[in-house]
Amino acid sequence: MTEDNSTELRIHTDSQERPFLSVVTPMFNEAEGIVEFLQELKVFLEDLGRTYEVLVVDDGSRDTSVERALSIHWRGCRVLALSKNCGHQIALEAGMSASRGTWVLTMDSDGQHPPECIQYMISAALDEDADVVYMRQPDRTNDSWAKRSAATMYYRIIRTITKVPIADSQADFRLIHRPVVEAVLKVPGDKVLRLLLPAIGYRSVTLEYSARDRIAGKGRFGAGWQFKMALLSILGFTSAPLRLVALSGLVISAGAAFWLLYVLVTYMQTRTVTGWSSVMAAVLTIGGLTLLSVSVVGEYLARVYDLLKAHPKYSARFVDGSANSGKDGQ
Ligand code: UDP
Ligand code: MG
Repeated sequence: MTEDNSTELRIHTDSQERPFLSVVTPMFNEAEGIVEFLQELKVFLEDLGRTYEVLVVDDGSRDTSVERALSIHWRGCRVLALSKNCGHQIALEAGMSASRGTWVLTMDSDGQHPPECIQYMISAALDEDADVVYMRQPDRTNDSWAKRSAATMYYRIIRTITKVPIADSQADFRLIHRPVVEAVLKVPGDKVLRLLLPAIGYRSVTLEYSARDRIAGKGRFGAGWQFKMALLSILGFTSAPLRLVALSGLVISAGAAFWLLYVLVTYMQTRTVTGWSSVMAAVLTIGGLTLLSVSVVGEYLARVYDLLKAHPKYSARFVDGSANSGKDGQ
């Protein structure tokens, strides 16, 4: 597959015109499998009969992944190289930001996300008039028991704490409409895409797929990565922990006030050991005021956090189909 043929020239586009589809695929040390993956992807994309571009986002690979990806000389495919290993989510963001397609499809480059699903994803989006097509893997049999259990726990906890209606076993394998891509890219800070999209609540369809084994090598996301994702998901989507601290500050300081009252009453009834009342009064007053201040600071911080989070508050569209994603009701 070293030369372009006329079909390919018709189908892919390297002009300034917007292609129908951009495929964004992050790659980190995938030298052994990347050629096979891209060749298979190419077959499916050319069968689609739509204009496309492929963006392979090299996430600072330390092997020959980039050379291998370029070795197939596919004019519809560009490699966007990040200067260092920034992580899968940032690679996805970089690719989405460089993409031009009306629809953006994100998929892994290790062969686990089957390219044959692409046509079903596009049909589902167009038939159901959806802005996002999520892909979920109902049975994660190719994951270890530990990874499956950690994932189940992650989704359960995150749904409870953040109240985002995220379905189990979401993959970073999805099709996103251009207006949604633009809205998501405007959100500042770390983005957990699998949570951000359902949090904003775009019109969506969820399809199921069966993940394949990697073409080569081993997955790199272990317990450390899952823990980091869980932390980012909580910190990025809810001020609930901050509000909990603020509330406990308020409750405990109210308790301290009552206790102080008790200390004063027992002091007046001279039922106390010398010095106890003054020590208790000092401890309770200072402790109570400190906790009260924490709860005030917590409440203000929660407001600042909500502003900085800057998630679009809604997604709406005119009934003729044009989208309008808003922030702060604008
Ligand atoms: N990946 C990446 N940066 C990283 C780690 C992984 O871009 O730091 C890419 C990797 O090449 C693959 C996708 O992200 O295309 C998913 O990674 P992996 O297969 O290791 O994760 P798993 O499938 O085990 O969740
Ligand atoms: Mg994988």
